[in-house]
Amino acid sequence: MIPKSVLYPRTRGLKIMTIMNDEDLLYTQEELAFREKAREFVKKTITPVAKDVETRAPWPEDEWRKLMGKMGEEGYTGLMIPKKYGGGGKSLLYQLIAGEEISAVSPALTMGFGASCTLSAIPILRFGTEEQKEKYLKPIAEGTALGALGITEPNVGSDTAGMQTTATWDENKQVWILTGEKRFITNASIADQIIIFALTDSNVDSKSGMTAFIIEPSWPGFSVIQDFDLMGRRGVHNTLFKMEAMEVPPENVLGKKNQGFLILMDELDTERVGIAAEALGCMRQPFEVAVEHSMKRVQFGRPISRFEGISFKIADMATQMRAARLMTVSAARMIEKGLIATKEATMAKLFATETSVKLTDLAIQILGGEGYVKDFSGIEKFYRDARLGTIGGGTSEIMRFLIQREVYIEAKRGKIQRREDVTVDFDTMMSMIPKGFRSDRAEGVSALIQFEFSDNKNWLLSINEQACSVEQGNSDSALMTVKTTSEVWKNIMLGKTDAMNAMMAGKIEITTDDMDLLMKFARMFKFSSDLFVI
Ligand SMILES: Cc1cc2nc3c(=O)[nH]c(=O)nc-3n(C[C@H](O)[C@H](O)[C@H](O)COP(=O)(O)OP(=O)(O)OC[C@H]3O[C@@H](n4cnc5c(N)ncnc54)[C@H](O)[C@@H]3O)c2cc1C
Repeated sequence: MIPKSVLYPRTRGLKIMTIMNDEDLLYTQEELAFREKAREFVKKTITPVAKDVETRAPWPEDEWRKLMGKMGEEGYTGLMIPKKYGGGGKSLLYQLIAGEEISAVSPALTMGFGASCTLSAIPILRFGTEEQKEKYLKPIAEGTALGALGITEPNVGSDTAGMQTTATWDENKQVWILTGEKRFITNASIADQIIIFALTDSNVDSKSGMTAFIIEPSWPGFSVIQDFDLMGRRGVHNTLFKMEAMEVPPENVLGKKNQGFLILMDELDTERVGIAAEALGCMRQPFEVAVEHSMKRVQFGRPISRFEGISFKIADMATQMRAARLMTVSAARMIEKGLIATKEATMAKLFATETSVKLTDLAIQILGGEGYVKDFSGIEKFYRDARLGTIGGGTSEIMRFLIQREVYIEAKRGKIQRREDVTVDFDTMMSMIPKGFRSDRAEGVSALIQFEFSDNKNWLLSINEQACSVEQGNSDSALMTVKTTSEVWKNIMLGKTDAMNAMMAGKIEITTDDMDLLMKFARMFKFSSDLFVI
């Protein structure tokens, strides 16, 4: 007989994951204190309803609203939203910590929470007018409104540029008329507001002719067709809805007309690390339960943990879970610092979500029949919940496509120089712009772009079909003006600052009426410190 103390060295419940020997290196003391607070909140508020969320799917609207209200009171719904709009003004890591903690108990609740407080809130925060922020952002931050974001359509999934929903301007009524269907939209049937993407210019490619709108489902023309029955994340409202000649006032355009694709691209890195953090939470309980079970379950006269067939699985699970965490935290820190993190955020999403699918599968294997049958540990739920991770927010195939694209671009440029080694004067730096030019993305573009530096000489960038040149000077016929300081521009060229973030923060001002050019310009250059390896 094996003594109980050997068989039950720990009690169930988030004990093993707390043993992270380097957590003081990965997180600040404030973040760790916040994590403790979030764990207490989850224990008190999320754990008691988790089973109800799962069994009464989709969880009734009034329950969602009650819970979001409680989350709002405790400050979780507005973590990244500035205090001015009723939020906490915290950094991305706080949002990830909250997402992971909630997901450790209910990945379904994290999803509804994330669709509202990140997916729909962050674009309004970055691109919204003051009036939009007051009207739509504040209630989300306070937990009194639910938001959603609608990109996907019946005929449009991975290929977002193939969008079919249209918005046409009605000159008489002075409103936009939206027509189309959106599918698989989280929260849509219970949302107060939805960010919708629609085509507003059929004469250009959809990336240059797409606009974002904030719509309210209570408006005439909006109707829910159905809520879907989901394999996992049960409790979430996942909706197919229709907009039939829905009238949307001009003040509900988010950002500028035809800027939609930029808005869409802007939130993706943040969304991807958010999904990676969700996956970290999703794998936690299955891992802990599998470790505990393998020490407790006796077969052939010994705990099954003594069989390498089991303990090596645990080794793989622990290793991959740690790797997923390191990748997620590292990508999040890059985003927080304004570094370009597309490759790293995509890798974190890919690895963490695939790991959570593998790990939850292995956990069920380790528990045998008890893993499969619902009446025991309940970890089968996490297996079903994890499965969404490699599909939602961009599939694993699309993540691999994006990663290889970044890798080959970097490979073509040769050796990466450490950015602290780079010393370069301003004129040399400006003359290097054509080195970062992606001629393959400039097909059909002929434009003169004026750079106005508040503390330096002005420069003119000329793009003619697939050639690019730059020289000092001014022109009256520039199609686009880029206003900034030499320091901000230098940091962008060194890859220290993300151009999009700098634009959102008002550090760069780009003026043009030609949205097609702006869209193409955003994709035509790739700057990083290796440009200065001469
Ligand atoms: C529960 C749930 C919640 C969701 N929430 C939202 C939401 O809130 N808002 C929203 O807008 N969307 C949402 N989605 C939609 C989700 O983002 C899409 O399902 C996802 O992007 C994939 O699109 P698709 O399902 O149309 O698959 P498809 O794009 O049709 O893909 C089918 C398969 O083909 C592969 N494939 C496609 N193109 C390529 C390629 N170029 N190379 C290799 N393989 C390829 C895919 O990887 C996949 O394996 C949600 C989906 C689900 C299931």
